[in-house]
Amino acid sequence: MWGGFAIERGAATHFWEHIANPVYIVIPSGARNLQFSPLLHIHDVGFPSVNSVIQIRREIVAAMREEAAKVPGQECCGLLAGRDGTITEIFPALNVHANPARAYEIAPQELFQFVREIRAANLQLLGIYHSHPHGDNFPSASDVERGFYPDTPYFILSPLPAASQPVRAFLIRDGEVNELRIKDI
Ligand SMILES: [Zn+2]
Repeated sequence: MWGGFAIERGAATHFWEHIANPVYIVIPSGARNLQFSPLLHIHDVGFPSVNSVIQIRREIVAAMREEAAKVPGQECCGLLAGRDGTITEIFPALNVHANPARAYEIAPQELFQFVREIRAANLQLLGIYHSHPHGDNFPSASDVERGFYPDTPYFILSPLPAASQPVRAFLIRDGEVNELRIKDI
């Protein structure tokens, strides 16, 4: 369990951007001291196997769109959680990237806090979302390059009124992009 941890090194590492830099985490309960990329940490939340359809509560879709609309010139970002393959919770994050109009980055402290909350609520991490304020809501080259979570749907939003599909979801695996069908319930 993630009862608590301390980042020994790399506290300033924003892992969306600098995932290549290892972050050291102390896990008191396991008395382990691991060097790992934070994606392993995120995987510890426990993913269900993902198929080609992802279910999400309507109000969460609406909440994501509101988050994107709040910062029309910038990329919003955050995590999605739920259980049994249905997304029921949203965790909006602060985009701490130096150029938030073009990229997103969640500070590790905030991410780890969300991971703790997700675990405490007995939920699973079921998605990572961000918006593309200026363009098509399809994974960009850098999204593909940084698609470090092969089993996690990446939701990409377009706040543009003309967007035909304002919310889309993708799996990004080994440089390959597959769109998921979003079923809102
Ligand atoms: Zn993107």
